[in-house]
Amino acid sequence: MASPPDRRFQCRAVRSPRGATTTEIDWADGHKGVYPHAILRGYCPCAGCQGHTGTIRFVESSATQQELEDLEIVGNYAVRLQWFDGHGTGLYAYKYLRALCQCAECKAPEPVAGAGEAVEHPDLPRV
Ligand SMILES: [Zn+2]
Ligand SMILES: [Zn+2]
Repeated sequence: MASPPDRRFQCRAVRSPRGATTTEIDWADGHKGVYPHAILRGYCPCAGCQGHTGTIRFVESSATQQELEDLEIVGNYAVRLQWFDGHGTGLYAYKYLRALCQCAECKAPEPVAGAGEAVEHPDLPRV
């Protein structure tokens, strides 16, 4: 049985102008999500970036890797991001994106990633 949709995890609109370095998402509860591409790419949830361990890691990426080529809404639960370097296997579930929000209100003190260093982010849900 399906539970009633949680408005916090319903995406109303995604704004990602070509050449932008930040993507914005309007959530159905009125929240405006802010997603710098370094964060989106760094937390790409695909198995290639995250491996199969239980925790989500932040992976350093280059400027080219942070250029968004295309995005696609998948079903009613996720956004697939296609990056300029050809990487496009990351399926970002709304719940995951909501946890990644970098707006002033949500922004946690982390992630603080050193150069080439992977930072574990155990609070993020696996998708
Ligand atoms: Zn990936
Ligand atoms: Zn936020």
